[in-house]
Amino acid sequence: MSNALASPQAVDLTTLTAWDHDHVWHPFTDQADWLASEPLFIDRAEGVFLIDLAGRRYIDGVSSLWCNLLGHRHPALDAALRGQLDRIAHSTLLGLTHEPAVRLARRLAELAPPGLTRVFFSDSGATAVEVALKLAFQYWRQKNPPEPQRRLFLALDGAYHGDTLGDVSLGGVPRFHAMFGPLLFPTLRAPSPSAQNPTESLQTIDRLLREHPGQVAAVVLEPIVQCAAGIRVHPDGFLAQLAQLVRQHNTLLILDEVAVGMGRTGTLFACQREGVSPDFLCLAKGLTGGYLPLAATLTTDAIHAAFTRPHAATPDPTFYHGHTYCGNPLGAAVALATLDTLLREHILERLPPRIDQLRRWLDRLRSHPHVAEARQAGLIAGIELVRDRSTRTPFDPSLRLGARVCLRARHYGAILRPLGDVLVLMPPLVISEAELEQLCSALEHALHDELEALP
Ligand SMILES: *Cc1c(COP(=O)(O)O)cnc(C)c1O
Repeated sequence: MSNALASPQAVDLTTLTAWDHDHVWHPFTDQADWLASEPLFIDRAEGVFLIDLAGRRYIDGVSSLWCNLLGHRHPALDAALRGQLDRIAHSTLLGLTHEPAVRLARRLAELAPPGLTRVFFSDSGATAVEVALKLAFQYWRQKNPPEPQRRLFLALDGAYHGDTLGDVSLGGVPRFHAMFGPLLFPTLRAPSPSAQNPTESLQTIDRLLREHPGQVAAVVLEPIVQCAAGIRVHPDGFLAQLAQLVRQHNTLLILDEVAVGMGRTGTLFACQREGVSPDFLCLAKGLTGGYLPLAATLTTDAIHAAFTRPHAATPDPTFYHGHTYCGNPLGAAVALATLDTLLREHILERLPPRIDQLRRWLDRLRSHPHVAEARQAGLIAGIELVRDRSTRTPFDPSLRLGARVCLRARHYGAILRPLGDVLVLMPPLVISEAELEQLCSALEHALHDELEALP
Protein backbone atom coordinates (compact mmCIF):
# COMPACT_ATOMS: atom_id res chain seq x y z
CA MET A 1 0.00 0.00 0.00
CA SER A 2 2.65 2.55 1.01
CA ASN A 3 4.81 1.40 -1.91
CA ALA A 4 1.89 1.77 -4.24
CA LEU A 5 1.27 5.32 -3.08
CA ALA A 6 4.91 6.27 -3.48
CA SER A 7 5.06 4.94 -7.01
CA PRO A 8 1.75 4.80 -8.90
CA GLN A 9 3.36 2.89 -11.78
CA ALA A 10 3.85 -0.03 -9.46
CA VAL A 11 0.10 -0.60 -9.02
CA ASP A 12 -1.20 -3.38 -11.21
CA LEU A 13 -4.39 -3.17 -13.18
CA THR A 14 -6.27 -5.51 -10.86
CA THR A 15 -5.54 -3.28 -7.88
CA LEU A 16 -6.46 -0.11 -9.75
CA THR A 17 -9.71 -1.72 -10.84
CA ALA A 18 -10.52 -2.68 -7.27
CA TRP A 19 -9.78 0.84 -6.09
CA ASP A 20 -12.00 2.30 -8.80
CA HIS A 21 -14.80 -0.07 -7.90
CA ASP A 22 -14.39 0.68 -4.20
CA HIS A 23 -14.20 4.45 -4.38
CA VAL A 24 -15.09 6.19 -7.67
CA TRP A 25 -18.71 7.04 -8.38
CA HIS A 26 -18.93 7.52 -12.15
CA PRO A 27 -21.30 10.16 -13.58
CA PHE A 28 -24.29 9.17 -15.76
CA THR A 29 -23.34 5.55 -15.12
CA ASP A 30 -25.40 2.60 -13.92
CA GLN A 31 -23.49 1.61 -10.78
CA ALA A 32 -24.40 -2.11 -10.87
CA ASP A 33 -23.29 -2.40 -14.51
CA TRP A 34 -20.11 -0.53 -13.81
CA LEU A 35 -19.16 -2.72 -10.86
CA ALA A 36 -19.67 -5.79 -13.03
CA SER A 37 -17.46 -4.47 -15.81
CA GLU A 38 -13.75 -4.22 -16.46
CA PRO A 39 -13.02 -0.50 -16.69
CA LEU A 40 -10.83 0.83 -19.46
CA PHE A 41 -8.05 2.99 -18.03
CA ILE A 42 -6.93 5.82 -20.29
CA ASP A 43 -3.32 6.57 -19.53
CA ARG A 44 -2.18 9.13 -22.11
CA ALA A 45 -2.95 10.49 -25.53
CA GLU A 46 -1.48 11.71 -28.81
CA GLY A 47 -3.46 13.91 -31.16
CA VAL A 48 -6.87 12.29 -31.73
CA PHE A 49 -5.76 9.01 -30.11
CA LEU A 50 -6.40 7.95 -26.52
CA ILE A 51 -3.94 5.33 -25.24
CA ASP A 52 -4.78 2.83 -22.51
CA LEU A 53 -2.52 1.36 -19.83
CA ALA A 54 -1.64 -1.56 -22.09
CA GLY A 55 -0.57 0.85 -24.85
CA ARG A 56 -3.60 0.23 -27.09
CA ARG A 57 -4.67 3.23 -29.17
CA TYR A 58 -8.25 4.38 -29.76
CA ILE A 59 -9.58 7.28 -31.81
CA ASP A 60 -11.33 9.71 -29.46
CA GLY A 61 -14.60 9.53 -31.43
CA VAL A 62 -16.59 11.82 -29.13
CA SER A 63 -13.82 14.29 -28.27
CA SER A 64 -13.70 13.15 -24.63
CA LEU A 65 -17.38 14.00 -24.19
CA TRP A 66 -17.67 16.75 -26.80
CA CYS A 67 -14.91 19.02 -25.57
CA ASN A 68 -11.61 18.27 -27.31
CA LEU A 69 -11.05 20.39 -30.44
CA LEU A 70 -7.40 20.36 -31.44
CA GLY A 71 -6.38 16.88 -30.33
CA HIS A 72 -4.71 15.93 -27.08
CA ARG A 73 -1.31 17.31 -26.06
CA HIS A 74 -1.38 20.06 -28.63
CA PRO A 75 2.03 21.79 -28.38
CA ALA A 76 0.58 25.33 -28.31
CA LEU A 77 -1.96 24.48 -25.62
CA ASP A 78 0.56 22.54 -23.55
CA ALA A 79 2.99 25.48 -23.76
CA ALA A 80 0.31 28.01 -22.75
CA LEU A 81 -0.62 25.90 -19.75
CA ARG A 82 2.99 25.39 -18.65
CA GLY A 83 3.75 29.08 -19.15
CA GLN A 84 0.83 30.10 -16.95
CA LEU A 85 1.79 27.51 -14.35
CA ASP A 86 5.15 29.26 -13.98
CA ARG A 87 3.27 32.45 -13.00
CA ILE A 88 0.26 31.34 -10.93
CA ALA A 89 -2.25 28.48 -11.01
CA HIS A 90 -5.15 30.29 -9.42
CA SER A 91 -6.20 33.67 -8.09
CA THR A 92 -9.75 34.93 -7.61
CA LEU A 93 -11.84 37.28 -9.76
CA LEU A 94 -13.72 38.41 -6.63
CA GLY A 95 -12.16 41.80 -5.92
CA LEU A 96 -9.01 41.11 -8.01
CA THR A 97 -8.26 40.51 -11.64
CA HIS A 98 -5.59 38.90 -13.83
CA GLU A 99 -4.26 39.16 -17.35
CA PRO A 100 -5.43 35.80 -18.77
CA ALA A 101 -9.08 36.51 -17.85
CA VAL A 102 -8.92 40.07 -19.18
CA ARG A 103 -7.33 39.03 -22.46
CA LEU A 104 -9.76 36.15 -22.90
CA ALA A 105 -12.81 38.34 -22.23
CA ARG A 106 -11.55 40.86 -24.79
CA ARG A 107 -10.84 38.13 -27.35
CA LEU A 108 -14.30 36.58 -26.90
CA ALA A 109 -15.94 40.00 -27.26
CA GLU A 110 -14.02 40.53 -30.53
CA LEU A 111 -14.94 37.15 -31.98
CA ALA A 112 -18.54 36.79 -30.76
CA PRO A 113 -21.60 38.01 -32.66
CA PRO A 114 -22.12 41.79 -32.41
CA GLY A 115 -23.16 43.24 -29.07
CA LEU A 116 -21.80 40.51 -26.79
CA THR A 117 -19.28 42.65 -24.96
CA ARG A 118 -19.53 41.47 -21.34
CA VAL A 119 -18.14 38.17 -20.10
CA PHE A 120 -19.04 36.42 -16.86
CA PHE A 121 -16.69 33.50 -16.21
CA SER A 122 -17.56 30.28 -14.42
CA ASP A 123 -16.39 26.69 -14.55
CA SER A 124 -18.80 24.40 -16.40
CA GLY A 125 -21.55 24.34 -18.97
CA ALA A 126 -24.12 23.97 -16.20
CA THR A 127 -22.90 27.11 -14.46
CA ALA A 128 -22.65 29.07 -17.73
CA VAL A 129 -26.39 28.50 -18.33
CA GLU A 130 -27.35 28.90 -14.66
CA VAL A 131 -25.61 32.30 -14.70
CA ALA A 132 -27.54 33.35 -17.82
CA LEU A 133 -30.86 32.34 -16.20
CA LYS A 134 -30.15 34.25 -13.01
CA LEU A 135 -28.81 37.31 -14.86
CA ALA A 136 -31.91 37.41 -17.07
CA PHE A 137 -34.19 37.05 -14.05
CA GLN A 138 -32.44 39.81 -12.12
CA TYR A 139 -32.17 42.07 -15.20
CA TRP A 140 -35.95 42.37 -15.50
CA ARG A 141 -36.15 43.40 -11.85
CA GLN A 142 -33.53 46.12 -12.26
CA LYS A 143 -34.15 47.55 -15.69
CA ASN A 144 -35.91 50.85 -16.03
CA PRO A 145 -38.87 50.51 -15.74
CA PRO A 146 -38.70 47.14 -13.95
CA GLU A 147 -40.78 44.18 -15.18
CA PRO A 148 -40.88 41.92 -12.13
CA GLN A 149 -43.62 39.74 -13.62
CA ARG A 150 -41.06 38.17 -15.95
CA ARG A 151 -40.06 34.96 -14.21
CA LEU A 152 -40.87 32.20 -16.71
CA PHE A 153 -38.41 30.52 -19.04
CA LEU A 154 -39.35 28.83 -22.29
CA ALA A 155 -37.37 25.80 -23.43
CA LEU A 156 -37.64 23.01 -26.01
CA ASP A 157 -38.54 19.35 -25.68
CA GLY A 158 -35.38 17.33 -25.30
CA ALA A 159 -33.50 20.35 -23.95
CA TYR A 160 -30.31 19.70 -22.01
CA HIS A 161 -28.56 22.58 -20.30
CA GLY A 162 -26.61 20.87 -17.51
CA ASP A 163 -27.31 19.19 -14.19
CA THR A 164 -27.80 21.97 -11.64
CA LEU A 165 -31.42 22.44 -10.59
CA GLY A 166 -32.05 25.62 -12.61
CA ASP A 167 -30.73 23.92 -15.73
CA VAL A 168 -32.67 20.75 -14.94
CA SER A 169 -35.85 22.87 -14.68
CA LEU A 170 -35.31 23.75 -18.35
CA GLY A 171 -34.33 20.19 -19.18
CA GLY A 172 -36.54 18.07 -21.38
CA VAL A 173 -34.90 14.64 -21.35
CA PRO A 174 -37.21 12.55 -19.13
CA ARG A 175 -34.60 9.84 -18.53
CA PHE A 176 -32.25 12.41 -16.96
CA HIS A 177 -34.70 14.90 -15.51
CA ALA A 178 -37.94 13.19 -14.42
CA MET A 179 -36.52 12.13 -11.03
CA PHE A 180 -36.06 15.72 -9.91
CA GLY A 181 -39.49 17.01 -10.98
CA PRO A 182 -40.64 17.91 -7.45
CA LEU A 183 -37.63 20.21 -6.98
CA LEU A 184 -37.99 22.24 -10.17
CA PHE A 185 -39.51 25.57 -11.17
CA PRO A 186 -42.17 25.50 -13.92
CA THR A 187 -40.95 26.03 -17.50
CA LEU A 188 -42.93 26.72 -20.67
CA ARG A 189 -42.26 24.00 -23.19
CA ALA A 190 -42.38 23.90 -27.00
CA PRO A 191 -41.67 20.96 -29.32
CA SER A 192 -38.28 20.99 -30.99
CA PRO A 193 -38.50 21.60 -34.72
CA SER A 194 -38.21 18.61 -37.03
CA ALA A 195 -37.86 18.37 -40.77
CA GLN A 196 -41.31 16.72 -40.82
CA ASN A 197 -42.92 19.55 -38.89
CA PRO A 198 -40.74 22.65 -39.11
CA THR A 199 -43.37 25.27 -38.20
CA GLU A 200 -45.14 23.60 -35.27
CA SER A 201 -42.37 24.61 -32.88
CA LEU A 202 -42.37 28.29 -33.90
CA GLN A 203 -46.17 28.42 -33.77
CA THR A 204 -46.18 26.98 -30.25
CA ILE A 205 -43.49 29.41 -29.09
CA ASP A 206 -45.45 32.31 -30.59
CA ARG A 207 -48.65 31.12 -28.88
CA LEU A 208 -46.93 30.62 -25.49
CA LEU A 209 -45.38 34.09 -25.65
CA ARG A 210 -48.80 35.61 -26.50
CA GLU A 211 -50.51 33.64 -23.70
CA HIS A 212 -47.96 34.89 -21.14
CA PRO A 213 -47.51 38.57 -22.03
CA GLY A 214 -44.80 40.26 -19.99
CA GLN A 215 -44.11 37.05 -18.04
CA VAL A 216 -41.34 35.36 -19.97
CA ALA A 217 -37.82 36.22 -18.76
CA ALA A 218 -36.07 34.42 -21.64
CA VAL A 219 -36.30 31.78 -24.33
CA VAL A 220 -33.46 29.28 -23.92
CA LEU A 221 -32.17 26.86 -26.49
CA GLU A 222 -29.26 24.91 -27.89
CA PRO A 223 -28.96 26.42 -31.37
CA ILE A 224 -28.66 24.28 -34.55
CA VAL A 225 -28.20 20.92 -32.73
CA GLN A 226 -29.74 19.60 -29.52
CA CYS A 227 -26.95 17.19 -28.80
CA ALA A 228 -28.02 15.36 -25.62
CA ALA A 229 -31.52 14.88 -27.05
CA GLY A 230 -29.92 12.48 -29.54
CA ILE A 231 -28.23 14.84 -32.03
CA ARG A 232 -31.47 16.53 -33.09
CA VAL A 233 -30.53 18.86 -35.94
CA HIS A 234 -32.85 21.83 -36.43
CA PRO A 235 -34.03 22.74 -39.94
CA ASP A 236 -32.16 25.61 -41.64
CA GLY A 237 -33.63 28.97 -40.77
CA PHE A 238 -35.28 27.87 -37.53
CA LEU A 239 -32.87 29.78 -35.30
CA ALA A 240 -33.17 33.02 -37.28
CA GLN A 241 -36.98 32.81 -37.22
CA LEU A 242 -37.01 32.03 -33.53
CA ALA A 243 -34.68 34.97 -32.77
CA GLN A 244 -37.06 37.26 -34.68
CA LEU A 245 -40.02 35.95 -32.71
CA VAL A 246 -38.21 36.55 -29.42
CA ARG A 247 -37.48 40.16 -30.50
CA GLN A 248 -41.11 40.74 -31.54
CA HIS A 249 -42.23 39.69 -28.08
CA ASN A 250 -39.58 41.88 -26.40
CA THR A 251 -38.09 39.09 -24.35
CA LEU A 252 -34.51 37.76 -24.13
CA LEU A 253 -32.72 34.98 -26.00
CA ILE A 254 -30.25 32.69 -24.23
CA LEU A 255 -28.23 30.43 -26.53
CA ASP A 256 -26.49 27.46 -24.95
CA GLU A 257 -23.50 26.80 -27.20
CA VAL A 258 -21.73 24.68 -24.61
CA ALA A 259 -21.64 21.75 -27.06
CA VAL A 260 -22.07 23.40 -30.48
CA GLY A 261 -19.81 26.43 -30.01
CA MET A 262 -16.08 26.68 -30.74
CA GLY A 263 -16.27 25.44 -34.32
CA ARG A 264 -18.06 22.16 -33.84
CA THR A 265 -20.74 22.94 -36.46
CA GLY A 266 -18.27 24.57 -38.88
CA THR A 267 -18.52 28.20 -37.73
CA LEU A 268 -16.84 29.48 -34.56
CA PHE A 269 -20.25 29.96 -32.93
CA ALA A 270 -23.27 28.03 -34.18
CA CYS A 271 -25.54 31.12 -34.13
CA GLN A 272 -23.28 32.74 -36.73
CA ARG A 273 -24.63 30.24 -39.25
CA GLU A 274 -27.90 32.17 -39.18
CA GLY A 275 -26.60 35.65 -38.35
CA VAL A 276 -28.19 35.63 -34.90
CA SER A 277 -26.87 37.67 -31.94
CA PRO A 278 -28.46 36.48 -28.70
CA ASP A 279 -28.70 38.38 -25.42
CA PHE A 280 -26.69 35.64 -23.70
CA LEU A 281 -24.22 33.17 -25.23
CA CYS A 282 -23.07 30.28 -23.01
CA LEU A 283 -19.74 28.59 -23.69
CA ALA A 284 -17.85 25.78 -21.94
CA LYS A 285 -16.75 22.30 -23.13
CA GLY A 286 -14.50 23.26 -26.09
CA LEU A 287 -13.65 26.72 -24.74
CA THR A 288 -10.32 25.39 -23.43
CA GLY A 289 -9.92 22.97 -26.32
CA GLY A 290 -11.04 20.25 -23.92
CA TYR A 291 -8.20 20.84 -21.45
CA LEU A 292 -9.70 22.41 -18.34
CA PRO A 293 -13.05 23.31 -16.78
CA LEU A 294 -13.73 26.92 -17.78
CA ALA A 295 -16.96 28.51 -18.93
CA ALA A 296 -18.15 31.91 -20.08
CA THR A 297 -21.54 33.60 -20.25
CA LEU A 298 -21.40 36.47 -22.73
CA THR A 299 -23.96 39.25 -22.63
CA THR A 300 -24.61 42.80 -23.81
CA ASP A 301 -23.97 46.30 -22.48
CA ALA A 302 -27.75 46.72 -22.23
CA ILE A 303 -28.04 43.85 -19.74
CA HIS A 304 -24.90 44.91 -17.89
CA ALA A 305 -26.17 48.50 -17.55
CA ALA A 306 -29.02 47.32 -15.31
CA PHE A 307 -26.39 46.13 -12.80
CA THR A 308 -24.38 49.36 -12.64
CA ARG A 309 -26.55 51.58 -10.47
CA PRO A 310 -24.80 53.00 -7.37
CA HIS A 311 -24.45 50.33 -4.74
CA ALA A 312 -26.44 52.35 -2.22
CA ALA A 313 -29.51 51.89 -4.44
CA THR A 314 -32.30 49.61 -3.29
CA PRO A 315 -32.70 46.88 -4.13
CA ASP A 316 -28.94 46.22 -4.22
CA PRO A 317 -28.16 45.65 -7.93
CA THR A 318 -25.12 43.43 -7.33
CA PHE A 319 -25.18 40.00 -8.97
CA TYR A 320 -24.58 37.76 -5.97
CA HIS A 321 -23.31 34.75 -7.86
CA GLY A 322 -19.82 33.36 -8.29
CA HIS A 323 -17.74 30.23 -8.19
CA THR A 324 -14.40 29.87 -6.47
CA TYR A 325 -12.59 29.02 -9.70
CA CYS A 326 -14.36 31.60 -11.92
CA GLY A 327 -11.99 32.57 -14.73
CA ASN A 328 -9.20 30.31 -13.47
CA PRO A 329 -5.92 31.60 -14.98
CA LEU A 330 -4.77 28.20 -16.23
CA GLY A 331 -8.08 27.67 -18.01
CA ALA A 332 -8.09 31.20 -19.40
CA ALA A 333 -4.53 30.83 -20.72
CA VAL A 334 -5.41 27.58 -22.50
CA ALA A 335 -8.65 29.07 -23.86
CA LEU A 336 -6.68 31.96 -25.36
CA ALA A 337 -4.24 29.51 -26.93
CA THR A 338 -7.19 27.49 -28.25
CA LEU A 339 -8.75 30.52 -29.97
CA ASP A 340 -5.36 31.64 -31.30
CA THR A 341 -4.64 28.18 -32.69
CA LEU A 342 -8.09 27.85 -34.27
CA LEU A 343 -7.49 31.11 -36.13
CA ARG A 344 -3.74 30.86 -36.83
CA GLU A 345 -3.97 27.32 -38.20
CA HIS A 346 -7.20 28.10 -40.13
CA ILE A 347 -8.85 25.09 -38.50
CA LEU A 348 -12.39 26.15 -39.50
CA GLU A 349 -11.43 26.91 -43.11
CA ARG A 350 -9.94 23.43 -43.29
CA LEU A 351 -13.08 21.68 -42.00
CA PRO A 352 -15.27 21.43 -45.14
CA PRO A 353 -13.46 18.43 -46.68
CA ARG A 354 -13.88 16.50 -43.39
CA ILE A 355 -17.53 17.57 -43.11
CA ASP A 356 -18.10 16.35 -46.70
CA GLN A 357 -16.33 13.08 -46.00
CA LEU A 358 -18.59 12.51 -43.00
CA ARG A 359 -21.65 13.47 -45.10
CA ARG A 360 -20.79 10.97 -47.85
CA TRP A 361 -20.37 8.20 -45.30
CA LEU A 362 -23.67 9.09 -43.57
CA ASP A 363 -25.41 9.16 -46.98
CA ARG A 364 -24.28 5.62 -47.56
CA LEU A 365 -25.36 4.53 -44.07
CA ARG A 366 -28.88 5.88 -44.66
CA SER A 367 -29.73 2.83 -46.80
CA HIS A 368 -28.79 0.47 -43.94
CA PRO A 369 -31.85 -1.60 -42.91
CA HIS A 370 -31.49 -0.62 -39.24
CA VAL A 371 -30.70 3.08 -39.66
CA ALA A 372 -33.77 5.30 -39.26
CA GLU A 373 -31.91 8.58 -39.69
CA ALA A 374 -28.35 9.81 -39.98
CA ARG A 375 -28.22 13.44 -38.86
CA GLN A 376 -25.33 15.85 -39.23
CA ALA A 377 -24.25 19.42 -38.57
CA GLY A 378 -20.59 20.15 -39.20
CA LEU A 379 -18.49 17.50 -37.48
CA ILE A 380 -21.38 16.34 -35.28
CA ALA A 381 -23.28 13.24 -36.38
CA GLY A 382 -25.99 11.03 -34.89
CA ILE A 383 -27.06 7.68 -36.34
CA GLU A 384 -30.40 6.48 -35.05
CA LEU A 385 -30.80 2.71 -34.96
CA VAL A 386 -34.22 1.02 -35.19
CA ARG A 387 -35.42 -2.54 -35.45
CA ASP A 388 -37.75 -1.75 -38.34
CA ARG A 389 -36.92 1.11 -40.60
CA SER A 390 -40.27 1.32 -42.38
CA THR A 391 -42.36 1.51 -39.19
CA ARG A 392 -39.60 3.18 -37.15
CA THR A 393 -40.00 0.53 -34.46
CA PRO A 394 -37.15 0.94 -31.97
CA PHE A 395 -35.09 -1.91 -30.60
CA ASP A 396 -36.09 -3.15 -27.16
CA PRO A 397 -34.27 -0.67 -24.89
CA SER A 398 -33.20 -3.52 -22.59
CA LEU A 399 -30.99 -4.79 -25.42
CA ARG A 400 -28.94 -1.60 -24.98
CA LEU A 401 -27.84 -1.94 -28.57
CA GLY A 402 -26.30 1.54 -28.77
CA ALA A 403 -24.13 0.87 -25.73
CA ARG A 404 -23.14 -2.55 -27.06
CA VAL A 405 -22.09 -1.17 -30.44
CA CYS A 406 -19.94 1.44 -28.70
CA LEU A 407 -18.29 -1.15 -26.46
CA ARG A 408 -17.64 -3.33 -29.47
CA ALA A 409 -16.07 -0.38 -31.34
CA ARG A 410 -13.19 -0.50 -28.85
CA HIS A 411 -12.06 -3.74 -30.49
CA TYR A 412 -11.74 -1.76 -33.70
CA GLY A 413 -9.82 1.08 -32.08
CA ALA A 414 -12.47 3.70 -31.39
CA ILE A 415 -13.97 5.20 -28.25
CA LEU A 416 -17.64 6.08 -28.70
CA ARG A 417 -20.49 6.88 -26.34
CA PRO A 418 -24.11 6.60 -27.51
CA LEU A 419 -27.30 8.42 -26.52
CA GLY A 420 -29.68 5.48 -26.17
CA ASP A 421 -29.77 3.91 -29.64
CA VAL A 422 -28.31 6.97 -31.32
CA LEU A 423 -24.66 6.44 -32.18
CA VAL A 424 -22.79 9.72 -31.82
CA LEU A 425 -19.71 10.85 -33.71
CA MET A 426 -18.10 14.10 -32.62
CA PRO A 427 -14.39 13.81 -33.37
CA PRO A 428 -11.81 16.55 -32.67
CA LEU A 429 -11.80 19.19 -35.41
CA VAL A 430 -8.25 18.28 -36.41
CA ILE A 431 -9.07 14.67 -37.34
CA SER A 432 -7.36 13.69 -40.61
CA GLU A 433 -9.00 12.03 -43.60
CA ALA A 434 -7.43 8.65 -42.75
CA GLU A 435 -8.37 8.91 -39.07
CA LEU A 436 -11.98 9.79 -39.86
CA GLU A 437 -12.09 6.85 -42.26
CA GLN A 438 -10.79 4.60 -39.47
CA LEU A 439 -13.38 5.95 -37.01
CA CYS A 440 -16.31 5.41 -39.41
CA SER A 441 -15.12 1.95 -40.30
CA ALA A 442 -14.75 1.00 -36.60
CA LEU A 443 -18.34 2.05 -36.04
CA GLU A 444 -19.58 0.11 -39.06
CA HIS A 445 -17.74 -3.06 -38.06
CA ALA A 446 -19.02 -2.81 -34.50
CA LEU A 447 -22.58 -2.26 -35.72
CA HIS A 448 -22.33 -5.26 -38.02
CA ASP A 449 -21.01 -7.52 -35.24
CA GLU A 450 -23.68 -6.51 -32.74
CA LEU A 451 -26.55 -6.85 -35.21
CA GLU A 452 -25.31 -10.36 -36.06
CA ALA A 453 -25.22 -11.24 -32.38
CA LEU A 454 -28.78 -10.04 -31.68
CA PRO A 455 -31.21 -12.60 -30.25
C1 LIG B 1 -22.63 19.35 -21.70
C2 LIG B 1 -23.64 20.42 -21.84
C3 LIG B 1 -23.97 21.26 -20.75
C4 LIG B 1 -23.36 21.05 -19.38
O1 LIG B 1 -21.99 21.28 -19.37
P1 LIG B 1 -21.14 20.74 -18.11
O2 LIG B 1 -19.78 21.31 -18.33
O3 LIG B 1 -21.17 19.25 -18.20
O4 LIG B 1 -21.81 21.24 -16.89
C5 LIG B 1 -24.86 22.27 -20.96
N1 LIG B 1 -25.44 22.45 -22.15
C6 LIG B 1 -25.17 21.68 -23.21
C7 LIG B 1 -25.82 21.95 -24.51
C8 LIG B 1 -24.27 20.61 -23.09
O5 LIG B 1 -24.03 19.79 -24.12
